[in-house]
Amino acid sequence: MAKKATPKKPGKSSKYVYFFGNGKADGNRSMRDTLGGKGAGLAEMSRAGLPVPPGFTISTDVCSLYYKQKGKIPSAVDAQIAENIRKLEKAAAATFGSTSNPLLVSVRSGAKFSMPGMMDTILNLGLNDAAVEGLKVRTSNGRFAFDSYRRFMQMFGSVVLEIPKDVFEREFEAVKHAKGVALDTDLDEQALREVVQRYKKVIRDGAKRDFPQEPREQLTMARDAVFRSWMNPRAQEYRRIYDIPDHIGTAVNVQMMVFGNTGDRSATGVGFTRNPATGAREFYGEFLVNAQGEDVVAGIRTPQPIAELEKVLPTAYRQLRDITTRLERNYKDIQDFEFTIQDERLFMLQTRSGKRTGYAAVIIATDFVAERLITPKEAILQIDPESLSQLLAPGFDQQEWGKIPVATRGLPASPGAASGQVVFSADDAVQWSDQGKPVILVRRETVPDDIRGMFVAQGVLTATGGMTSHAAVVGRQMGKPSIVGAAALEVDEDGRTCSVNGHMIREGDFVSFDGLTGEVKLAKVASKPSEILQVLHGQLEPKKSDIYRRFKQILTWSDKYRRMGVRANADQPDQAELAYAFGARGIGLCRTEHMFFGEGRIPIVQRMILADNETDRRAALAELLPLQREDFYGVFKAMHGEPVTIRTIDPPLHEFLPKREELMVEIARLEARPHGVDELETKLALLRRVEQLHEFNPMLGHRGVRLGITYPEITEMQTRAIMEAACRLAKEGLKVTPEIMIPLVGHVKELRDQKAVVNRVAAEVMKEQGVRVKYLVGTMIEVPRGAMTADEIATEAEFFSFGTNDLTQMTFGFSRDDIGKFLRVYQDKKILDKDPFATFDVDGVGPVLRTGVELGRRARPGLKMGVCGEHGGDPSSIHFFEKVGLDYVSCSPYRVPVARLAAAQAALDVKVGD
Ligand code: PEP
Ligand code: MG
Repeated sequence: MAKKATPKKPGKSSKYVYFFGNGKADGNRSMRDTLGGKGAGLAEMSRAGLPVPPGFTISTDVCSLYYKQKGKIPSAVDAQIAENIRKLEKAAAATFGSTSNPLLVSVRSGAKFSMPGMMDTILNLGLNDAAVEGLKVRTSNGRFAFDSYRRFMQMFGSVVLEIPKDVFEREFEAVKHAKGVALDTDLDEQALREVVQRYKKVIRDGAKRDFPQEPREQLTMARDAVFRSWMNPRAQEYRRIYDIPDHIGTAVNVQMMVFGNTGDRSATGVGFTRNPATGAREFYGEFLVNAQGEDVVAGIRTPQPIAELEKVLPTAYRQLRDITTRLERNYKDIQDFEFTIQDERLFMLQTRSGKRTGYAAVIIATDFVAERLITPKEAILQIDPESLSQLLAPGFDQQEWGKIPVATRGLPASPGAASGQVVFSADDAVQWSDQGKPVILVRRETVPDDIRGMFVAQGVLTATGGMTSHAAVVGRQMGKPSIVGAAALEVDEDGRTCSVNGHMIREGDFVSFDGLTGEVKLAKVASKPSEILQVLHGQLEPKKSDIYRRFKQILTWSDKYRRMGVRANADQPDQAELAYAFGARGIGLCRTEHMFFGEGRIPIVQRMILADNETDRRAALAELLPLQREDFYGVFKAMHGEPVTIRTIDPPLHEFLPKREELMVEIARLEARPHGVDELETKLALLRRVEQLHEFNPMLGHRGVRLGITYPEITEMQTRAIMEAACRLAKEGLKVTPEIMIPLVGHVKELRDQKAVVNRVAAEVMKEQGVRVKYLVGTMIEVPRGAMTADEIATEAEFFSFGTNDLTQMTFGFSRDDIGKFLRVYQDKKILDKDPFATFDVDGVGPVLRTGVELGRRARPGLKMGVCGEHGGDPSSIHFFEKVGLDYVSCSPYRVPVARLAAAQAALDVKVGD
């Protein structure tokens, strides 16, 4: 575990344990860093006088110490825990290990950011051979007491002592078998006493020690197990996906147990103050009568919708509604809560801000503003920018979808259209998707270990579980279409088949489902663009789309607060149009070489490259000129006068030629044939040129400005095409702002050379056309030397655009194309937290970029600067670009909404979730 930023020294004066209960608490809601989300919520609810079972939170600092001191906890912490146990015994009016009224506690993890199901929990702690008799006396229910004891031993045995769960299961089944019963609930007290005896032996054999009878020892061991679970592989994987730092650690909450499983007047459940999938304003959740909390989230029994609680336990239901409404108003956010009703008495066990789909995030935030619960500024700070990209995900074509019969239905856990080939394990999902196949992960129920598979799948479909089961919670958060509790699905994971109403589905068969309606169909179905895209493409009237209206509203509010401009990286007129519709005000990067891939253009480009003299090369360039001019005209027009940065050719030329190995195969084939001598000659010539152009390290080879310097006629043609298109628009009376950008400049003289060519040709064109167009000549800063000499470069450059893809590549010395081979190992070994090509490396590449900014502005005050690498659409990178004072970010058209919102949050210096 990495070092914590401000490690506290263990000492008598430091506070490590925070009590809550009886209307008071040591902590409060603002202490999520120290108490974790759950601990802060419990403290806040206690302070508000809500019915919360008393307990205490062991802070995240202790987790850091646990790792720093290799599993040892300082005695100062132990002393504070002992003191809080005494307080808890007093508040609960119960005593650890008592034979008349034993104190039982739950021990739960709780990090600053919720990580559903990723870490461990232990319930009923405090039971031992004496206390179980006490519990029997207190509840007059021997069956219940011994069932609680065996559950505790089983949890403790597997989580703390790391004995495989199935060893316990086997013993349990053996007793059931011997007693001739089918259901767990059919076992009586006597049988459960026998289970307990068997479990003791399992523990003695498996852990080489007796089951600990002393509650304080149980607690110490459970606490350490929770700390250990912070670093279990699935928790680490989860943090990697959600960008949660490793060093923050988890808190441990120790809380008096309340029981939802004492009989039919008891229940347990979870819920949300609004629908977390659709955002609808409805009380939402589910519960199980006579059950413990874990039964609901584990998805073992399919629970009842929360509305039915009103009929079963009306008083507790009304109180729950009242409390949760107050919590939502107090926190000004949708709440995700857990409760237990013990003998008709309601207890709140948790409240936290609820995870929601991107769709729901937008609906909820705009509703909150309409309800005057929050301001527009608070609304934009409540939405994770990534949510907006979820809204652009495709749905099914309803006509095609409607033709296919519904095979079954499940609970619509996370919206979105998913279609793919069925796989039955997370590993297979990863393997198949690595081969480029779209997969649907089908499981009886998902377990937290499935997270990797869920991440790569198009969608997740489970047979059991409710809307708050693990699959549902994680699916929603990932924006992954998910259906859970499709009860008609009989899944045989080992046999890699499942059946639904008599239809057999094998691994590899196609299924499709709609995560908004819960319908599953046995077919491959094409999807269609989101409603928002339909509006933007003019296929749907804006006023007919509620979600579009809200989406637009959020972005309009964001624009009020952002300082940086948002441009798009687009190479084609249609991309530019979409980008403009998404709100991009300018093109930050038009990669001209992408235009060469258009239909019929490659042969002309190849002729240009193959030419071994300038005359032939100019002839080929002359053919490309009108094509590029048309493209530039279209891109300019789509941008309605906003600046358009067009970059001269960048990649090594051989990228446009066939691969050497493929050519050799073709040549061998032609040589074996008696005819086709001409074709053979052509291919041989091509091969010779390919070999001439071959480079050992093309990324550092003959590319970028180096091409323009060696073949100035390419820069000439491109400048001519840009300026002719611009002059035409000017003559049509339209505004146009071209910015011509030279890539990969590391030395001012490179730029000077190319700028002279650009200015010469631009002057020629304007003279020919009889019109003047204002244009700029600037450069990309993407070679470290370019950044370190940015003051010199700025004497020539009229703008800078930071190419953070190459800047990252060259600062790290990681090849952009080869990092995939070792990145994973780097992440596993904690050498790198994140992929530096996805999230800008503030610590290492940051200073290089910052130097470029400072030197550039020193030499040319007011120099316009932006970023056009992939990082331009990444929210956390955008925060850095805001801090260094860039003027704009440029990203792919689909990321523009994300960047607009992220730029507003960056300007307000708030990261969502912090
Ligand atoms: C960059 O290097 O960041 C960049 C935008 O250019 P390209 O990705 O085309 O090399
Ligand atoms: Mg580059």
